[in-house]
Amino acid sequence: MSPDTPGLHHVTAIAGDPQDNADFYVGTLGLRLVKRTVNHDDTGTYHFYFGDGEGTPGTNITFFPWTDRGRDGRFGAGQTKTTAYAIPTDSVDYWRGRLESGGIDVEAATRFDETVLRFSDPDGIELELVATEAETAGTPWEDSSVPAKHQLRGFYAVTLAVDGFGPTETILTDVLGYELESEADGRRRYRSATGGPGSIVDLVETDPGRGQMGVGTVHHVAFAAESVEEQARWRKAFADAGLSPSEVIDRKYFQSIYVREPGGVLFEMATTGPGFTEDEALDELGERLTLPEWLEDEREQIEAQLPDFDGPTVGSDGD
Ligand code: ZN
Repeated sequence: MSPDTPGLHHVTAIAGDPQDNADFYVGTLGLRLVKRTVNHDDTGTYHFYFGDGEGTPGTNITFFPWTDRGRDGRFGAGQTKTTAYAIPTDSVDYWRGRLESGGIDVEAATRFDETVLRFSDPDGIELELVATEAETAGTPWEDSSVPAKHQLRGFYAVTLAVDGFGPTETILTDVLGYELESEADGRRRYRSATGGPGSIVDLVETDPGRGQMGVGTVHHVAFAAESVEEQARWRKAFADAGLSPSEVIDRKYFQSIYVREPGGVLFEMATTGPGFTEDEALDELGERLTLPEWLEDEREQIEAQLPDFDGPTVGSDGD
C-alpha cells in the first residue's frame, strides 16, 4: 500500500448542448468556468472545466458537449453513477431551495449519517450535494451567484456502478491503497488512506450489462498524482496488477495516464500541476478559448467548427 494514496482530481462527462451545460454548472451550481478549450482528441468539441475560484484539483467537473447526438448514453455497469460535491452542513436548506426554485427535482436522503441532496443535471447526469463537517477543498469564487459561505467545497465522492464488487475493489484497495470503511444498503464506501477532501469512492452493484458511453454519462474519473514521478509509480502499479495503462499524455494543464479498471470504469491519473494558470491569468480564467500550442496554428479553423456558445450565464443569487 502506498502512503500517498490519491484523492479525486477531476470527473469528465459527456453533455449535450454547451450553453445549457455551462448555464447549469455556473448559473445554478455557482461553479466557475475555469477553462474553455477543445477536446484535444476531437477539436470540433468544446472541453469545459468547471471548478472553484482557482480551478483547484479536486473541485473540477469537466464536459465534452456533443451537440449532434441526442442523449445517446446508457447507464450501466462500468460507469460512474454519481458525482458528489461537499457542502457545509448549514447549507442544506439553501441548496434545496435554490435547486427547487430552478425547477430541479431534489431528493433528500440520509446516508452514513450525512444529509445527501440528489438531483440530475440537464443531460441526466446524477449529482449529489453531501452536507459534511469534514475537511473540504476549494477557494470561493467571488463572482459566483452563490454566496461564498454556501459554495460547493470540492468533491466529496464518486459512486461507481459495477457488476460485482470484487475486481474493482481489488484495484482500489491493493493498488490505490483505499480502505473499506463502511457498508450499508448495498453500498461499499472506501476511503483513501491519506484522507482529506475527495478521498471517498463508493461502489454499488448494478444489473449486468455494460453501460454505453455517450451524452448523459460520465466518461472517466481522474485521481490526483502529486508529481510526474508519483504518476510513473502509479503507472507501474497498474501494470504490475495486470492492467494496461496508457502512455503519459500531455493535457496542457496536467499530465495524464488512463487505465480501464476490470469493472469497466475508465480511470485517469492526472498530475496536480501545472494547472489552469499555465496559459491564462487567474482573474481571466475561462473567458476565452484557449488552445495548446500544438493546436494554435489551427485556431481559425477550430473556432469556425465549434458550436454556438455565448459564455456561461452567471445567474442570480435568488434573493
Ligand atoms: Zn480527464
